[in-house]
Amino acid sequence: MKFKLRTKLSMSYLLIGLLCILIISVLSNIFLEKSFINYVIKNQTLKNETIVEQLQSQIDREGVFNSDAIETIGITALEQGVIIRIVSMNGATIWDAKVHNNGLCEEMITHMSTSMMQKVPNWKGALIVTDYPLLQYGKTMGKVVIEFYGPYYFTDSDVAFMETLNLLLLAVSGIAIVMALSVGTLMARRISKPLSIVMETAREITNGNYEARTKLNTTTVEIDALTESINDLAETLENQEKLRQRLTSDVSHELRTPLATLQSHMEAMIDGIWDADISRLKSCHEEIVRMTQLVGALEKLAIIENDANKFERVPVGIRQLIENQIKNFESDFYKKNSQIEFECLADETILADKNQLNQVVVNLMSNALKYSPENSRLIIRYYVTYEEVFLEFQDYGYGIAEADLPNIFERFYRADQSRNRTTGGVGIGLTISKAIINRHGGKIMVSSTLGEGSLFKIVLPKTTIV
Ligand code: ADP
Repeated sequence: MKFKLRTKLSMSYLLIGLLCILIISVLSNIFLEKSFINYVIKNQTLKNETIVEQLQSQIDREGVFNSDAIETIGITALEQGVIIRIVSMNGATIWDAKVHNNGLCEEMITHMSTSMMQKVPNWKGALIVTDYPLLQYGKTMGKVVIEFYGPYYFTDSDVAFMETLNLLLLAVSGIAIVMALSVGTLMARRISKPLSIVMETAREITNGNYEARTKLNTTTVEIDALTESINDLAETLENQEKLRQRLTSDVSHELRTPLATLQSHMEAMIDGIWDADISRLKSCHEEIVRMTQLVGALEKLAIIENDANKFERVPVGIRQLIENQIKNFESDFYKKNSQIEFECLADETILADKNQLNQVVVNLMSNALKYSPENSRLIIRYYVTYEEVFLEFQDYGYGIAEADLPNIFERFYRADQSRNRTTGGVGIGLTISKAIINRHGGKIMVSSTLGEGSLFKIVLPKTTIV
């Protein structure tokens, strides 16, 4: 059976409230009643002692029993539910409440037992008879026999007091239940309302509305964290969706031109308008090679951009890596009568994906080669600081126009379309390089002056943990 969070929370508060009331009621019933009974018993003993004291002080004052004074004490005792009888040394009764007013005594005893039976059903009381000696000059001159209902007896005011107490307990319980319910409902609403809003956003995201966001400012850490996670999720999905849309349009745009060229060339040759000579077939072949390159580069980029693909983390010696690539590029630079210089000021080993770092170096070196005229130079600088590794690729080639600089890391962006046609670039090399450096926790920057050359600068953290 499933319940709403709100119902569950309200019910829990109510349950806690009821449990507290139950515990308080049970404890107060046990302890309060016990101490109240003790109080009543003590009170009865005190009452008896007071009667004895009053009688004793009469004897001390007058030396003999004074029937009038004794009667006053006896009647007062009777009014308090105590029956007394004074007996002299020789057994003669001086004063007896039962003789004085037997009817009242009988009536009082019956009233006591019936009312107690009503108030406390399992009450086991009986008429208790005790006697106390009365002294004259240190010698016993008689005794007072005291009869009362014991071990305890609740007077009407005692019962009224207990009833008030119970009523108070009942009122407190009622207030506690109302408070538990209202606080519970309030708290439940405060927790469930933002959750419902977050849930609604999640539902919208599921339905494809990746722009949906939740703006909540609660005082609950977990709800704030959940809101943030849902917003982050929406943002990731939104970015991925944009990327997917852009990729689809970019790819179709990039493929449309070479495919149209190929199609028209092929059709012209099939229709006999053109001869299928070597130069035309070569041009078609070039278009196919370009498309294959483009698809290959896209594949590579997809692999790097996919967060699910983990990096291979191995210690990579940067110096060795660059020296190897310089060897690989030497002959190509030589063909253009250009030089590569390596200013190596460090020899650091970092944790990185060796193949991917190689890819970045290859991309930057081949760009320097492609976008420089003959008799040019490429300077590679390698230095470190306390925390970072720096790699610089400075060429003295064509340079990049200021307007193109912010875009050159974008997918398919080529600064100089006319020159790019001849160099055969597809505009993905720098995008791949940036993605690799970013995944290594580093940065890649460019500064360039048209006609003078470009400087690509890479900064990598020394302990690159991917
Ligand atoms: P491509 O395959 O076209 O070289 P890149 O992503 O490597 O793709 O480079 C994007 C564009 O940036 C290039 O088309 C080029 O116009 C410009 N570019 C890159 N490197 C350099 C450089 N060293 N000198 C001048 N222009 C460059």
